[in-house]
Amino acid sequence: MLQIARLQPPIRNDIAGGGEFLASRGDRLHYGIDYQIAAGSHVLVAKTCEFVKVGQAYGDTPEFKYIEVRDGDVFVRYFYVQPNPALSSGTQLFEAEWIGCAQPIGQHYANGMQDHVHVEVFYTGEKALRIPNGVKFIYRPDKDRTYVDPAAYFRGEIIA
Ligand SMILES: [Zn+2]
Repeated sequence: MLQIARLQPPIRNDIAGGGEFLASRGDRLHYGIDYQIAAGSHVLVAKTCEFVKVGQAYGDTPEFKYIEVRDGDVFVRYFYVQPNPALSSGTQLFEAEWIGCAQPIGQHYANGMQDHVHVEVFYTGEKALRIPNGVKFIYRPDKDRTYVDPAAYFRGEIIA
């Protein structure tokens, strides 16, 4: 059982790259954190929130999913998690509730990447004023979202 919360799992750092927030991905950036978690591990939601939806991580690969939850104005997406089939939109999830199992994303890439859960935390729109000093964030105009450092969110530093 694994809870991504104040006690955070290690961040992926392997031959395929680093999993830090805003790590470089060629001409792009990494908008989340990759927490290294073995495929099949149970993923527990970090904070009490509302379940929003299950989405597809990649347009061309339907088996890889993300789970989106909402904590006030903050949205959190847990990528590469096979969802608990009992999740139902609009219902409350309590801290440490089981949301699904980590998927074998390393096997999918087969380039030495370790299995991990990619977590993104964002506000819709440009919300720089909501973010405390010292917390990393970036506004993405193409998505009209402000991404914040997931580690800061899990430490309770982000205003929901
Ligand atoms: Zn990632």
